[in-house]
Amino acid sequence: KSHGHDQALASDTFDKFCNASTLKDILGLYRQLCSVCKLVPTNFHEFFPKIRGKIPSWRAEELWSRFEKKAAEKCYARGRYGGNTKVLIIGGGPCGLRAAIDAQLLGAKVVVIEKREKFSRNNVLHLWPFVITDLRALGAKEDGHEFNLGFCSDKFFAVLYGKFCAGSIDHISIRQIQCILLKVALLLGVEFYEGVGFQGLVEPSSSGVMMFDVILGADGRRTILSSEGFKRKALRAKLAIAITANFINKHTEAEAKVEEISGVSYIFRQQFFQDMDESMGIALENIVYYKDETHYFVMTPKKQSLLEKRVLYQDFPEPELLLAPENVDQEALQRFTMEAIVFATDNRLPELEFALNHYGQPDVAVFDFTTMYASENACRAVQRKGHKLLIGLVGDALLEPFWPTGSGCARGFLGSYDAIWMTRQWGKGLNSVLEVLAERESIYRLLGQTTPENLSKDHNQFNIDPRTRYPKINLGAVNARQITYLYDSDVPIKDVYDPIRDPNDSKLFKEFVMPHDFLLRWIQEQVAPKNVQVGSIADVLNGASALPALIHRYRPDLIAFPLPDNVDKCVKNQLIFEILQDEFDIGIPMDCEKSVTCGDSERGMLIRYLSQIYLRFRGDIC
Ligand code: FAD
Repeated sequence: KSHGHDQALASDTFDKFCNASTLKDILGLYRQLCSVCKLVPTNFHEFFPKIRGKIPSWRAEELWSRFEKKAAEKCYARGRYGGNTKVLIIGGGPCGLRAAIDAQLLGAKVVVIEKREKFSRNNVLHLWPFVITDLRALGAKEDGHEFNLGFCSDKFFAVLYGKFCAGSIDHISIRQIQCILLKVALLLGVEFYEGVGFQGLVEPSSSGVMMFDVILGADGRRTILSSEGFKRKALRAKLAIAITANFINKHTEAEAKVEEISGVSYIFRQQFFQDMDESMGIALENIVYYKDETHYFVMTPKKQSLLEKRVLYQDFPEPELLLAPENVDQEALQRFTMEAIVFATDNRLPELEFALNHYGQPDVAVFDFTTMYASENACRAVQRKGHKLLIGLVGDALLEPFWPTGSGCARGFLGSYDAIWMTRQWGKGLNSVLEVLAERESIYRLLGQTTPENLSKDHNQFNIDPRTRYPKINLGAVNARQITYLYDSDVPIKDVYDPIRDPNDSKLFKEFVMPHDFLLRWIQEQVAPKNVQVGSIADVLNGASALPALIHRYRPDLIAFPLPDNVDKCVKNQLIFEILQDEFDIGIPMDCEKSVTCGDSERGMLIRYLSQIYLRFRGDIC
């Protein structure tokens, strides 16, 4: 009876959690849910089966199976590469939360800290098509012309997310997307702390502080990590001003009839803007209107117009002074915005009433986005007292979008997936620190150029693996030697190919298998300077010259090259096997008689053997 009572209470709390729409309620109900179910947030593979078992209601089932399907994607490797990794995410904005979800699915232990105690941003983000597909994979469901981010066959039940969009389907308010992603993150087992601000890194100590292997800065454009080795570059210089405004959506019929403006810019509708200027004295370059939780407007006014309308008291050449709060007349700003909106909507939005912002004030603001910042690098690594820490940036912290035209969080999401791919490569441990960083920097080079058109077309295949998203990716565009400055270590870095994990780790060796083509090419490159030809993988042993050439290239102290002609091939191979075993602990792969007639049946064994040699020797020359 008591078990049944607990289950009913859990289901009830779960339903309330699904319907909650503020940060406070979501977290309160989640904590209640954990308490009823006797659960503590932890890594996905421990947490998920438990919560699923405790809330078996059919209402939740569709949600669980979506999560399960997502977690089963190959890129997460069933938690194999995340299991030993503790990830801290700074900032619970859309991109930090999206990164948290993937890190959790990767099997890592994930903690998010968010300095605010409210999700209060009404502004609306434009969604690229892949973002909609992504949200759907996390549970979004189409309902007629609208999206319900719910998980039920019946829309009255178990609606986790409430309404996604009240107008067209390609936008969502920041606070709403935060609520959606937070709910997903929590149900997967992410630990979330509100009202906690990150202040800085503390080096490893024995004082019992929680240590992390990976830290991702998702704390927005003014990222605190810019002082931790992430230099920023400015991307734009021409003065650019934007006004954002939010009005209460009362969901009346009259409001519903007014069409959205998905981006009218001066070059396309010159007459429209000239008419507005002539009749209202308002000169704009662009205006966007989205009907969402609020009526959301973003417009880019000309400075002269703001001065003439006395929105700005005084002209200053420096944007910081021009738009400083002391230089802005808030009432004139509200009037200016209203007039522009009345003109743009043909006065068809009746009784407009400002929504309130974080501070309880009318939600209208003027911003300078003259300078947009991008980080010069997407990641770096620090080693102290034997502990390696990977640090990365995501979202606006990495690359600020040109938001008035709505690149929104699309690039932010791409950067979040990329950061978790890096976390996966790190956790896998097979590559060196610098190789992981170099791969991440190679991928980052593409981010600023992405558009909805130049991404891969099959959005259902998108995941953290960059090859699923960027059609022309070159993962080796940046090489390890170019970015040694991104690795800050308290011990000299012996060689750029130092693996992240201990190469003597037998588990690592057992798992490590390089692709056949890659290995063949690598061996060919290594032995070519010694005039040894290798046509196929089997030639490596059959010819009995490739391995001596390879070892001599890296460790000339271990073997003479070439070996004398009169030495039998079988004896040569045996000698090599023994050297590799004694010096590098690489087990003898096969009998030396067999090695010289090596064929298809030995191929798998040979590839494993060569993969281990690669792991020891990769790189150019020691
Ligand atoms: P953010 O959304 O900025 O989230 C960062 C989070 O980190 C915040 O919740 C913050 O409280 C938290 N944080 C900061 N410092 C710390 C710390 N030290 N410790 C812990 N937590 C911390 N995009 C559009 O598409 N349309 C728009 O109209 C639009 N308007 C915008 C208006 C403004 C004023 C700004 C700044 C941005 C706007 N954007 C707009 C851009 C859009 O908001 C971002 O692209 C998107 O929110 C990026 O998400 P993010 O998670 O990277 O960062």
